[in-house]
Amino acid sequence: MRTKTYRFPPPPVSAVAIAGSTELYAINRIFCVGRNYEAHAKEMGFVADREAPFYFTKAPAAFAASGATVPYPPGTGNFHYEMELVVAMGAPAFRVTADAALAAIFGYGCGLDMTRRDLQIASRDKGRPWSLGKDFESAAILAPLVPAKECGHPSRGAIALQVNGVTRQQADLSMMIHPVASIVADLSKYYHLQAGDVIYTGTPEGVSALKAGDRVVGSIEGLGEIHLAIGPAE
Ligand code: MN
Repeated sequence: MRTKTYRFPPPPVSAVAIAGSTELYAINRIFCVGRNYEAHAKEMGFVADREAPFYFTKAPAAFAASGATVPYPPGTGNFHYEMELVVAMGAPAFRVTADAALAAIFGYGCGLDMTRRDLQIASRDKGRPWSLGKDFESAAILAPLVPAKECGHPSRGAIALQVNGVTRQQADLSMMIHPVASIVADLSKYYHLQAGDVIYTGTPEGVSALKAGDRVVGSIEGLGEIHLAIGPAE
């Protein structure tokens, strides 16, 4: 029997660098936590739900590496950054406790959850999914991952973002409503998490609109920086 071949080439694997390594980390799924900092929930017009996190997803194809220049995306006039701590799973986790959750984490990275805010709000207000606002090309920027064996499991430390050298976000990881271990434990009630699954853990306050030509630099204490440049619309 002849081996089947692909009619079209399979899509490329989205893979992020690992700091200090020649290895790559292949991205399986991208989960994102919404409203995980009180002040950001408030600036979006909400009181954060402290009971349980909620999630949306992005396709792995939305990944772009730190250092990229991405075009101003189509269909929006209100393109926002959201600086976030990203968790990268390294082992299976299904119905795990918060303690066991940490042991299944490979490492951490600086991430930018890029958002077409006008489309997100329009869909949100109509009770529709957030996909157009959140899941699009180059909407999941991720810096090289730092293995947990080097950085530990960050629960405090500065998280900040500058646009063109001006500080726009400045907070501390300890202000997260749902900490990393709780998020992984909760998400593992619904998914068989595995190596390659990454989780954007939410953004602090200070989100705002970008324009072509802007340069974004984010940082998290102990994890280094993430860089993004916005190019002209296509
Ligand atoms: Mn976000």
